[in-house]
Amino acid sequence: HVKSEARGHVRVYESKTDQLIHDRWALQADLGHALRNGELSLHFQPQAEINGRIFGFEALMRWTHPTRGPISPDDFIPLAEESNLILDMSAWILTEACRTAASWTQPLTVAVNLSPIQFQHSELPRLIRQTLVDTGLRPSRLELEITESVLLGDFAHIVSMLRRIKAMGVRIAMDDFGTGYSSLSYLQAFPFDKIKIDKSFIQSIGRTEQAMTIIRAVIGLCRGLGIPVIAEGVETEEQRSFLAQEHCPEIQGYIVGRPAPIRVYGQIVDRLDPARTR
Ligand code: C2E
Ligand code: MG
Ligand code: MG
Ligand code: MG
Repeated sequence: HVKSEARGHVRVYESKTDQLIHDRWALQADLGHALRNGELSLHFQPQAEINGRIFGFEALMRWTHPTRGPISPDDFIPLAEESNLILDMSAWILTEACRTAASWTQPLTVAVNLSPIQFQHSELPRLIRQTLVDTGLRPSRLELEITESVLLGDFAHIVSMLRRIKAMGVRIAMDDFGTGYSSLSYLQAFPFDKIKIDKSFIQSIGRTEQAMTIIRAVIGLCRGLGIPVIAEGVETEEQRSFLAQEHCPEIQGYIVGRPAPIRVYGQIVDRLDPARTR
């Protein structure tokens, strides 16, 4: 009896696993057509000074599957990275983001996420330069976000690519700061233009004293090093006021605005008052 029950469990488990693997394959195959079929789009999420003034947007990729509906980037980006589809998708989003930002009347910044896979190809700096030329976006208005996973490759080579990109006048931000293994050592290895404190810390504000101590320390560290810092995933007034009290200069999160098609933010990017320079 026990034996057959155990077998039954194994069978159920295997069929679920098979289903998951099948889903992954099917999804990956569908992703192969997504770009051609116009299923990919771009959302923009505002980034603001602590006083609420919006100075830029992060571009975030969206995939609407024809039958399954919206799929989270946390699910499809890894599939795209496994299959190298990420290269075409990233080139597309970079062009789209720069072209959109170049069309705004206000000189706001645009931040684009880069994948570690893009750094395995030495033409990345050339792609960025060419995209800036093609879209006419001023390099200083583009910020590229990398996570620690980018730096886990051939470190010297990646740092030299980052330096070439930075030399164009494009800014480089460290995303999801604090979640990796040796985030602090990277601050010494490369002059990042911005640090983005990961939203997991922000979401622990008011819940765990440790997270608040870490946020305080990261803000102090960045101030000491002269690196601008932004808090990600700010949702509540409690979180915002804690960050204000700790003199965190910039925030991004639902409290400022959700990722949305750029038309939602049309009045901000195309305000008619004289452009303020930053
Ligand atoms: P990320 O770059 O750290 O982006 C921030 C994520 O936090 C976004 O999730 C955003 O929608 C979400 N977020 C922003 N504010 C809040 C908030 O107040 N509360 C909560 N709970 N979440 C908030 P999203 O759009 O699902 O993207 C997830 C990740 O997928 C991104 O994390 C990034 O690593 C990756 N990703 C998205 N678009 C691209 C892309 O074009 N290229 C690459 N390589 N990766 C991308
Ligand atoms: Mg990001
Ligand atoms: Mg992040
Ligand atoms: Mg992330």
